[in-house]
Amino acid sequence: MANGVQLSKMVSLNMNVRGMGQSATLAINEISKKLLQEKKAVYRLGLGQSPFPVPVPVVDALKANADKKDYLSPKGLPELKESIADFHHRKDGISVHPENVMIGPGSKELMFILQLVYYGEILIPSPCWVSYIPQARIIGRQVQIIPTSYENRWKLTAEDLDRFCYDEHDTYRPRILILNYPANPDGCTYRDSQLKEIAEVAKKYRMILLSDEIYGQLHHRGDHVSVARYYPEGTILSSGISKWCGAGGWRLGTFSFPPDLDWLLEAIAAVASETFTSVSAPIQHAAVQAFRNDQRIERYLWHARRILARLGTECHAMLAESGIRVWPPEGGFYLFPDFSPYRERLAKRGITDAEQLCERLLMETGVAILPGTAFARPEDELTARMAYVDFGGAKTLTASETIPLEAALPDDFTSRNCSHMLKAVEIMVEWIIK
Ligand code: PMP
Repeated sequence: MANGVQLSKMVSLNMNVRGMGQSATLAINEISKKLLQEKKAVYRLGLGQSPFPVPVPVVDALKANADKKDYLSPKGLPELKESIADFHHRKDGISVHPENVMIGPGSKELMFILQLVYYGEILIPSPCWVSYIPQARIIGRQVQIIPTSYENRWKLTAEDLDRFCYDEHDTYRPRILILNYPANPDGCTYRDSQLKEIAEVAKKYRMILLSDEIYGQLHHRGDHVSVARYYPEGTILSSGISKWCGAGGWRLGTFSFPPDLDWLLEAIAAVASETFTSVSAPIQHAAVQAFRNDQRIERYLWHARRILARLGTECHAMLAESGIRVWPPEGGFYLFPDFSPYRERLAKRGITDAEQLCERLLMETGVAILPGTAFARPEDELTARMAYVDFGGAKTLTASETIPLEAALPDDFTSRNCSHMLKAVEIMVEWIIK
């Protein structure tokens, strides 16, 4: 009887969802939590969450708006849309009309709805963020993965894109290309010239670009450039407060559309009105402050960038010095090492793919990282994503704030403030090369 109940549950699931587990990043976090409950040391480099607290002016704004209780428009609070349009103008040098901004409960949800309402093909360079492909699968959309390589810093080249899209019989078939930079999972970003070239190809095929720039403000040198500058008529700019503002759990993401794509915005808003209605009112009111021009937030960002740049560079050096193939990070808080130089040694220990590597590493050392397969890399590749975020963000930020931004951080800054994180990389390297 019990089996019968189980079976009927299984077959009543939608075909597209059957057999799907939780998102890989959340699953590894669950295993890590279990190890912690067993009082084992765990180094949580699996889940990509900002280590820093939400900036004080934004927290204060949330407190001040706790009484906001009305349902809001599905597209979002007008004041917030204005503040976002102004933010992109100021930061990215692009012109966005507030009417063309859409607010969602995380950019993840907006991407899901975009894939739902748009009927074309979705092109995704790999490695890519974990959720794009499962989202397409849930909806039953066709996804075309365009592989990139270590040699190209895991970045899509305009030539590869052109070659991939060329089809003399169906040149202009509807397509969306998802770009993400600074990138999750590899921490690398596009050069200005590369963005221009990609924009040219996108124009040539009249495709839509979904530019996921959620880590844009965490470019380590503050030099982020939006591809929307080079293809304003066809780029949907995706952002939010989850990463640079440390507010992942607040669930607020933004899409900024070009005027010509207002039909897509309207379709997304229609689905929003029938599903989530609107993002929580106090969160939207507080987010107005996050997107405003406020020197306190600018300083917070410069400190966060300085810490991430230093820590990322040190973690990179530890891996690279041991012969592991990995690019230095340029933004965000990820590294994407390729352990293939140790393939033979690992094989002798019974480890032949990245999933085995991550599982054994977690079980034997308590260091949690995610296999490249979660980011659409081939099963036999020995790549993995490491998020260098397991340190006390609030404490480290306070320590950085005592050192003028014009000065360099002292040599012992990370060993004083992020020792757990450095220890994790040390343990990982020792385990790999042993
Ligand atoms: N894009 C990328 C590349 C991400 O890493 C994330 C969060 N991990 C998201 C989008 C979604 O962010 P949110 O839904 O919190 O806006």
